[in-house]
Amino acid sequence: MGNFFTVQHNDTSSRARTGVMETPHGKVSTPVFMPVGTNGAVKALTKDDLKEIGFEIILSNTYHLYLRPGTDVIAAAKGLHHFMNWDRNILTDSGGFQVFSLAPFRKITEEGVKFRSHIDGAYHLLTPEKVVEIQGILGSDIQMQLDYCTSWGAARKEAEKALTLTSRWLSRATDAWKKEQEKGYGGKLFSIVQGNFFEDLRKESAGFAAASDTPGIAIGGLSVGEPEEVFREYLFYTSALLPAEKPRYVMGIGTPDYILDAIEAGIDMFDCVLPTRTGRTGRVLTRRGHFALKKSEYRMDFRPIDEECNCKVCREYSRSYLRHLFRTQEILCSMLASFHNLYFLNDLVLEARRAIEENRFLDFKKDFLERYREGQGE
Ligand SMILES: [Zn+2]
Repeated sequence: MGNFFTVQHNDTSSRARTGVMETPHGKVSTPVFMPVGTNGAVKALTKDDLKEIGFEIILSNTYHLYLRPGTDVIAAAKGLHHFMNWDRNILTDSGGFQVFSLAPFRKITEEGVKFRSHIDGAYHLLTPEKVVEIQGILGSDIQMQLDYCTSWGAARKEAEKALTLTSRWLSRATDAWKKEQEKGYGGKLFSIVQGNFFEDLRKESAGFAAASDTPGIAIGGLSVGEPEEVFREYLFYTSALLPAEKPRYVMGIGTPDYILDAIEAGIDMFDCVLPTRTGRTGRVLTRRGHFALKKSEYRMDFRPIDEECNCKVCREYSRSYLRHLFRTQEILCSMLASFHNLYFLNDLVLEARRAIEENRFLDFKKDFLERYREGQGE
């Protein structure tokens, strides 16, 4: 097997780039948007839908799968790929972010994170080693180290503590990952850059991640409640500190403007629940902005969601019909809206890749966002 990641083309108008990751579950062209399958399922979509759209990788959440169905079930199923019958790539997060956002109780020590399950209140301890082991049982093609994420507005002292712990946990995770590899596990470990919104701390954390043996690097602690211009500033700042030869991943990015900012900053991978979550609430994305299907103006509108979209939903169904499905609370509405939204974002990334290859990414971004921001689906 050759290199895990190869940069294919650097855009001359920005830091955007195309590349390819290769694992035993196939290739992943970058930049890539990864849909989120929290519980081992991308909500309202089948694996065949995901393949039809063209996804080469999906994300799943370690925290959720660890609690339900439990690693014993997934081990017995011979890994998450077999369990959910998905034969392409799977990236899993470390579970740390969900502990911080969902668990009713958590205590962070040098050893790891102790928390109570949001499902039944039972106590659990996640350590850097255990998180590597769980993701090994899942059979993740790409896995994340346990990290300590702080939110927008955190004090410097807390950010320093989070950074120190994240760095020490990285060393322990890397050792554990190397041992798993000796046992035959083929997945790649990504380190995570923290440092909150302090430039020197970001630099220190990026230096630690870059010096580690991990095949990829994630930028954590962004999109945690900060204003958009601060997100942008720290995204560009942190991305520039990372080595060119490793893939760069930013978590929780899913709107067209954030995705295009990330690509411009040289980010290769991103994920978000947004397209499926908004789909389930009847909101759809188009090249001329997003709109809510429930509005009365679509009652007699027999056009597709997006006339420029080539997905099966836009080819076969009208706004009028989808509005009717939404109002009668038919499950089909969630399925069709989620399918279209994911297709739309995948298409956006495909177009961005083409623009990078032709050295016109900034023009593409400007044109796309101008139309996207001015319209509400019209
Ligand atoms: Zn469509």
